[in-house]
Amino acid sequence: MVARQTLLFLSRHEGLKDFATGFGPFKRMTTRFVAGEDIEQTVSAIRALNAIGCTASFDHLNEDVSQVSATEEEVREYLRILARIDETGIRSNVSIKLTQFGLGIDSELAYRNARTVVEDAARRGNFVRVDMEGSNVTQVTLDIFRRLRSEFGLNDVGIVVQSYLRRTWDDVQELLKVPARIRICKGAYNEPPEVAFPDKKDVDENYVRVMRALLASGVYHGIATHDPKMIDATVDFAQREGIGKDAFEFQMLYGVRRDLQEQLARDGYNMRVYVPYGKHWYPYFMRRLAERPANVWFVLKNIFKG
Ligand SMILES: Cc1cc2nc3c(=O)[nH]c(=O)nc-3n(C[C@H](O)[C@H](O)[C@H](O)COP(=O)(O)OP(=O)(O)OC[C@H]3O[C@@H](n4cnc5c(N)ncnc54)[C@H](O)[C@@H]3O)c2cc1C
Repeated sequence: MVARQTLLFLSRHEGLKDFATGFGPFKRMTTRFVAGEDIEQTVSAIRALNAIGCTASFDHLNEDVSQVSATEEEVREYLRILARIDETGIRSNVSIKLTQFGLGIDSELAYRNARTVVEDAARRGNFVRVDMEGSNVTQVTLDIFRRLRSEFGLNDVGIVVQSYLRRTWDDVQELLKVPARIRICKGAYNEPPEVAFPDKKDVDENYVRVMRALLASGVYHGIATHDPKMIDATVDFAQREGIGKDAFEFQMLYGVRRDLQEQLARDGYNMRVYVPYGKHWYPYFMRRLAERPANVWFVLKNIFKG
């Protein structure tokens, strides 16, 4: 718990970020979780995933962008990704973060930037998932999502909820009324106990409760987890309720539990892998270390090996 909080604190530490991104051995370690620095390397990684029966979600790493011009460059990058998905025929949608599109500058700017990407995706028959970030932006992220959803279809844009947040059950009830395509995950940020359940047991219980509500809703949702207990609970519930394998998808992160990704695809489940790439990998990478502090030893071992 302490290790997780420390790593999440360090994930927001600018000095360490500058050091880590300039330090070759540390950077090399990121290849386990990050597909590459550019779109073409990511296309290759997604082709390999498609070949073993997994679909993907393209993610250009960047968050808390503080210059308007940089947010516009993020939009151009996503338009290039969507075009490249069409040109190559890879099976992938895209995931975006609103702080990457300027949420920290002005929520209207973030909305307009996101809208440009969703409009292009909708025109191409693709889909945009709006990731969920820290609890300081939960409400505004939901508000912008609802605005986008009122202008675009169920299969054009979707949202994420986090089972560690106390508010999530109520948010899900409202989102199901819209209706909306939802990704449920546990949540990856450092949150105070007033807003997030501090005990893993409560986070897991809430996850199962939300997962059941999603599956029962009849809308196509994403069940994002590497936790075998959450996966078994999903498979059991779907079988018991006669919900088909095509009615939802499992989602996992690039480089995490590849064995389980392949197994679920082989068993006939829809399996989507979230594939991040880009130069701004530091906070994403640190959140992955925080999820499994044993990964820190893997990193240190490799740095000292050479
Ligand atoms: C597709 C996808 C999208 C996501 N989008 C968001 C989002 O928008 N917002 C957000 O806050 N969070 C997001 N997350 C992260 C999520 O909230 C969790 O932090 C993360 O998935 C770990 O939780 P878990 O369900 O795997 O369960 P945990 O209980 O954390 O882990 C269960 C088991 O999975 C394995 N595992 C988990 N993480 C790792 C790792 N990093 N390295 C190696 N093994 C690991 C371990 O075996 C561990 O015992 C996303 C996750 C996925 C899979």
